[in-house]
Amino acid sequence: MANTVPDISLNDGNTIPQLGFGVYQIEPRDTAEAVGRALEIGYRHIDTAQMYGNEAEVGEAVRASGLDRGEVFVTSKLNNGFHRPEDARRAFESTLSALKMDYVDLFLIHWPLPTRYDGDFVSTWKTLEEFQRDGRARSIGVSNFQVPHLERLAAEADVVPAVNQIEVHPYLTNEQVRAYGGEHNILTEAWSPIAQGRVLDDPTIVDVAEQVGRTPAQVVLRWHVQRGDIVFPKSTTPKRIEENFRIFDFTLDDTAMERISGLDRGEAGRTGPNPDEFDYIPA
Ligand code: NAD
Repeated sequence: MANTVPDISLNDGNTIPQLGFGVYQIEPRDTAEAVGRALEIGYRHIDTAQMYGNEAEVGEAVRASGLDRGEVFVTSKLNNGFHRPEDARRAFESTLSALKMDYVDLFLIHWPLPTRYDGDFVSTWKTLEEFQRDGRARSIGVSNFQVPHLERLAAEADVVPAVNQIEVHPYLTNEQVRAYGGEHNILTEAWSPIAQGRVLDDPTIVDVAEQVGRTPAQVVLRWHVQRGDIVFPKSTTPKRIEENFRIFDFTLDDTAMERISGLDRGEAGRTGPNPDEFDYIPA
């Protein structure tokens, strides 16, 4: 079986490679090298954010790769301090100038911050709609939105988000938010897909990995893609970057899929903040 990354259709007619490379917590000085390595291995989708402070180095690596801009899918996200429309417009321009690109493939609201900005993420979303209309964001979406937040956008805005990027891994399967996405044509992107490494020693994961002759990380990433979600594991280790890319040349059977889904711990399995409460605004 060839290891080919599928392109999945978004609700706006664009497509996204189902596997990408995440750059959260990669130091700016290490980013261009890690992204360059990922592009060499075959990744064609990079997930960055204003908050990560490494957009410039992502852009540098894409240019240095020799690939055409159109061959690499680039996502960035609006930082938490810039939800007011005029701030969002300025921040979006700074993303494009840091990347040295004239468009991003996908731009997201990073967190809903329902306890900030008088609970108004709708005017922020309408500002992202402008970026899509003027072509500088090919697709737009949200991140860390809970079902009530998505329902509010459905009631008050014009564009349905193309994706919702949320925490999902075997200890937090996040079914309710995923199901809402499934019913409303919003693709789920699973962040921290291997729970930053925490799930890799789990006896069930280790057992499934032994059965299929793959590594625990490959098994968990394969579980995500068989569920239809988009993933972008992060690593700065060349061997792991390569390992995480090789997940399309084997399959998990229903029993293995169910055993992994059965590891869900609900809210207790969350490794990041709860989006209903998270209110962090970087200095
Ligand atoms: P992850 O689940 O991808 O885990 C990354 C860590 O796991 C690495 O630092 C490394 O220590 C380890 N690892 C990676 N590959 C491995 C392998 N093959 N074997 C053993 N260990 C391995 O965690 P993440 O970086 O938090 O999430 C991935 C991406 O998701 C981020 O880089 C970012 O792009 C995105 N993200 C988004 C949000 C959000 O709020 N939208 C939050 C967190 C992460």
